[in-house]
Amino acid sequence: MQKKVLIVEDNDLNLKLFVDLLTLKNYQVVSTKDGKVAFDLAITERPDLILMDIQLNGISGLDIIREMKLSEELKNVPIIAITAFAMKQDEAKIIQSGCDLYISKPVSIDNFFTAVHEFTHGEDNLVGT
Ligand code: MN
Repeated sequence: MQKKVLIVEDNDLNLKLFVDLLTLKNYQVVSTKDGKVAFDLAITERPDLILMDIQLNGISGLDIIREMKLSEELKNVPIIAITAFAMKQDEAKIIQSGCDLYISKPVSIDNFFTAVHEFTHGEDNLVGT
């Protein structure tokens, strides 16, 4: 079954890259550049995975992640945080937000696909073993 990924990314080039990569791998993609609508969009779309840019326009992706992880409806949706650069002091903050994984830009394509696949097909893998 096709898995759905919600991408929240305010940079046009990065957004296009993520959308193209995931579409190529046959994921269904929903995206927004506006972090302020991300929560409601996730409620409506029920994605299997959320990719969350941390540095968004006018809002912190970490705050959105925190809100999602406190929500009964969204707390079980895995979230990969995407950060421009993670300095040591940021790392703790990112992890404390409740995200399931964080990836630093520039994103390694291989690691990216591996992580996305793991979070969207984890149950399928278990069934196979
Ligand atoms: Mn950004």
